[in-house]
Amino acid sequence: MSARHEEIRENLEAVQQRILAAATAAGRGVDEITLIAVSKFFPIEDAQSLYELGIRDFGENRDDEGASKSVLLPTDARWHFQGQIQSRKISSIMGWADSIHSLDSLEHAAKCERALIEWGENREFFIQINLEPQRRDRGGIALDELPQFLQSTEKFSQVRPVGVMAVLPIAADPRHSFETIATAASRCGLSKLSLGMSGDFEEAIASGATHIRVGSSILGSRPTPA
Ligand SMILES: *Cc1c(COP(=O)(O)O)cnc(C)c1O
Repeated sequence: MSARHEEIRENLEAVQQRILAAATAAGRGVDEITLIAVSKFFPIEDAQSLYELGIRDFGENRDDEGASKSVLLPTDARWHFQGQIQSRKISSIMGWADSIHSLDSLEHAAKCERALIEWGENREFFIQINLEPQRRDRGGIALDELPQFLQSTEKFSQVRPVGVMAVLPIAADPRHSFETIATAASRCGLSKLSLGMSGDFEEAIASGATHIRVGSSILGSRPTPA
């Protein structure tokens, strides 16, 4: 086993211990929480190591990277697209991603719908929430736009959002922010919460996260993208 594989194994074990501790403290089972290993910018060998260690959920932010990595892992790996969606990339993203965490536009939703109807395929959709509406460049809709957004997706047959995703603003209080998002999602009938990254996944688990997206705690500091 390479030193890198060993390093990943140890980091992953530590993260899994922390997930177990946070879940137990919250009176939840670890099987309620999907750990998505965010492999973006890391080489395919790292994703292969994680696969050997039992990880099946992988997070990617870029269409080209996700498309090329996803064909190199066995087909039971699940790929989560969590980057900003570019309209011209939608049909490609729909081709490799099982789950899209960053839906934030009805125009994009309509485009996803058309591709999926054509192929007779389903994908899982999360709506991205942005708690800093003055920072539109980060992606996501404001929390108070969620009910209207959802209502507008009711006409779709394939694009049926099941949950919300958020990346918290740097200065935000994680617990308070996650609870606010969880409450709003639940009021809208959305049961899945993609909340929590390396710095705040324990608070996310305490607030009911069903999906956590963890990169650097498992794989170390990210190389700069090519
Ligand atoms: C990069 C990224 C992550 C992982 O972040 P870490 O802090 O490395 O765990 C999670 N979610 C999104 C949307 C990301 O872009």
